[in-house]
Amino acid sequence: MTTSPEIARARTRHRVAVLGATGAVGQTFVRLLADHPWFELTELAASERSAGRVYGDVTRWLEGELPGKIASRHVVACDPSAIESDIVFSALDSAVAAEIEAAMARAGKLVLSNARNFRMDADVPLLIPEINPDHVALLQGQRSNRGWPGAIVTNPNCAAVVAAMALAPLHQAFGVRQVFMTTMQAVSGAGYPGVPTLDILGNVIPLIRDEEGKIETETRKILGRMESGSVVEADIRISAQANRVPVEHGHTVCMSIGLERSASPEEAEQAITEWRGAELARNLPSACLPPVRLAIGDDRPQPRRDVMAGGGMQITVGRVRADPILDLRLVALGHNTIRGAAGASVLHAELLLSSGAIREP
Ligand code: NAP
Repeated sequence: MTTSPEIARARTRHRVAVLGATGAVGQTFVRLLADHPWFELTELAASERSAGRVYGDVTRWLEGELPGKIASRHVVACDPSAIESDIVFSALDSAVAAEIEAAMARAGKLVLSNARNFRMDADVPLLIPEINPDHVALLQGQRSNRGWPGAIVTNPNCAAVVAAMALAPLHQAFGVRQVFMTTMQAVSGAGYPGVPTLDILGNVIPLIRDEEGKIETETRKILGRMESGSVVEADIRISAQANRVPVEHGHTVCMSIGLERSASPEEAEQAITEWRGAELARNLPSACLPPVRLAIGDDRPQPRRDVMAGGGMQITVGRVRADPILDLRLVALGHNTIRGAAGASVLHAELLLSSGAIREP
C-alpha cells in the first residue's frame, strides 16, 4: 500500500457515515475507516431493526476484532435528518438503496454507493480511479439534471471490478474487442447470512441472479471514454457466466480475450506489469501500486494465497497464455468486499477529496 504520511498529515479528518454498517460490506467499511488518515468514522446507520441500539450488540461481527471505539456507538436510522456527515458510504441492500441514497444526495450529501441501482445511469460515475478518474466529470450533469446539492458516485459489481482491472492494461495497449469470462465468486459476495451452508458446501451454484448482465454492461461503461460530457461505452463484446463457489473471500475470473492488435502472452504480461493506472489515483492512501500484479507460480492466483495482495486492493493475474480461439486467456482474482466494495468506495472518496470535488472540512 502506498500510504503517504505527508498526505495523511496535510489534512483535517473529514467526518463520515456508513449506511448499512451492520452488513458484510458495512463491516468492511468499519474496519477500513477505523484508522483512516483522511476520514473519521462518526456515524453508523442501518435499518429500523438496528437503529437506536448499540452497534456491538446488533452486529454479528464477521472477522477479527470489532474496534472497541466503534462497538459502543449507537446505530442511527438511514434518514438524512439523523446524519450530520456530508460524506456517506453506502453498503445498503439494493432493495432500499435507490430511495435512501437519493434522499441523502437531495439533502446535500456525497454518497459513495455499493448498490447496483444507479450504476448504469448516464449521469452517474461508475468509478475505478486507476482506470476512469475523468468520469467524475459526470457529476456536473448529475447535479443539474437532478437538482441535487449532493451527488451519487458508484463502484462496480464485485466481479466486474476484477475483470475491468485485468482488462484495462490490455485494452489500453492492444484494444480489447471480445471477452468470454467465467466467474467463481466467493460466498461473502452474497452478504450475511448469505447462501445456506447445505447449498454451497462441496458444491458449485451456476447462477447468481442478475449478475452476468451487470458484469457485461458495467465493464463496457468502466472502460468507456468521456466525450462531450458523457461516457461512450467501450466497444467490447462480452459474454459472462457467473458461479457461486465455496470460497470465503475472493472472486476469480477466467477470461478468453480477443484483441484489436494481437499480442503474445509475453507482451500481455509486460503490459500488465508496466501498468500503473491513472496518475491521479497513484498516491491515494488506499491505492496500491501497481494496481495489478502478475501471480507468482503457474498455479496461481488462488483465493487462499492471493486475495489479500495489497491489503485486498490489488488484483492478481496469472496463467496468461495464448488462446486457440481468441488471442489470449488468463485468470484474475480480487477481494470482493475490499476491492469489490468498501475499499473501492474509500478510494473514490480519497480521489474526490484530493481532486477538489469535496471541499476540505
Ligand atoms: P448485507 O450483509 O445483507 O447487509 C445489508 C445492510 O443493509 C445491513 O446493514 C442492513 O441493516 C441494511 N438494511 C437492510 N434493509 C434496510 C432498510 N430497510 N433500511 C436501512 N438499512 C437496511 O449485504 P452486503 O453484502 O453487505 O451488501 C451491501 C450492498 O453492497 C448490496 O447492495 C450489495 O449488492 C453490494 N455489494 C456487496 C458486495 C459483497 O461482496 N458482499 C460487493 C459489492 C457490492 P440491518 O442489519 O439493520 O438489517
